[in-house]
Amino acid sequence: MLNADLHCHSSVSDGTLTPEEVAERAHRNGVQLWALTDHDEIGGQARARAAAASQGMGYLTGTEISVTFIQHTVHIVGLGFDAEDPAMVEGLAHTRGGRERRARDMAAGLERVGIQGAFEGALKFVGNPDLISRTHFARYLVEAGHCADTHEVFRRFLTDGKPGYVEHRWASLADAVRWITGAGGIAVIAHPGRYDFTPNEEFALFTEFKALGGQGVEVVTGSHTPAEYLKYADMAQEFDLLASRGSDFHDPAESHTDLGTLPDLPRQLKPVWEALEHRVHQP
Ligand code: AMP
Ligand code: MN
Ligand code: MN
Ligand code: MN
Repeated sequence: MLNADLHCHSSVSDGTLTPEEVAERAHRNGVQLWALTDHDEIGGQARARAAAASQGMGYLTGTEISVTFIQHTVHIVGLGFDAEDPAMVEGLAHTRGGRERRARDMAAGLERVGIQGAFEGALKFVGNPDLISRTHFARYLVEAGHCADTHEVFRRFLTDGKPGYVEHRWASLADAVRWITGAGGIAVIAHPGRYDFTPNEEFALFTEFKALGGQGVEVVTGSHTPAEYLKYADMAQEFDLLASRGSDFHDPAESHTDLGTLPDLPRQLKPVWEALEHRVHQP
């Protein structure tokens, strides 16, 4: 099967490698079709596409949109859209817009438990000032000696109910799917196994997503266990969704799954890239 890696991050969002470095690493690991999917941001797309071409890899445009659905944060990956589409460009800019305010509120929450200077500290790790994320705070708290690794920071400080967590309203599911499909791309539910939905809520997400014109779901991702590959393979068939595969790579040390190293999609599924052949930028 084609080695496609259609979910990963660069320093244009919360990854640590530049788009060129991610492209090189993907190619070195055997990736044949690649998409860079920075959070709420397409500012790295032209560089990623050029880097893919110089490595001899096929390229699909990508992004990972933050969405609020029934008071939960859900991520929707967009693939193969026109990166110049005005509604997409405008919608993502609006989605990014609240991040600085949120980061200041996160820092205030951390200060209340004795952690000083977290806003400035996180900024040192930010590659794109429009895209300050919890990951940058996590890296700073590790550097400052508050925790041993970023996973511990999330667990103790940055998840719901913890001192550095701030409720935030992201894009609606309807808007995110519309921006992607309106720009000629395919919308994909990212890592469904990561959300803490009840079975009914999860069913509502898939049903609503389908009704809005969403067409894909990540089955094999660095965020899923092998048991979840099977569960979401079944869900893909039940909802007649195309299947995607992506590492969700952020950093060589932090990410447990490297680019291009996941198992193949289960054979019975329809790979999302087969529906996007006309959108692939060939090297
Ligand atoms: P944000 O968009 O600012 O809320 O940040 C979300 C990002 O934080 C995700 O894309 C992951 O990269 C990272 N993240 C979320 N939860 C965890 C976790 N438990 N451990 C490590 N990283 C996490
Ligand atoms: Mn991330
Ligand atoms: Mn995600
Ligand atoms: Mn991601």
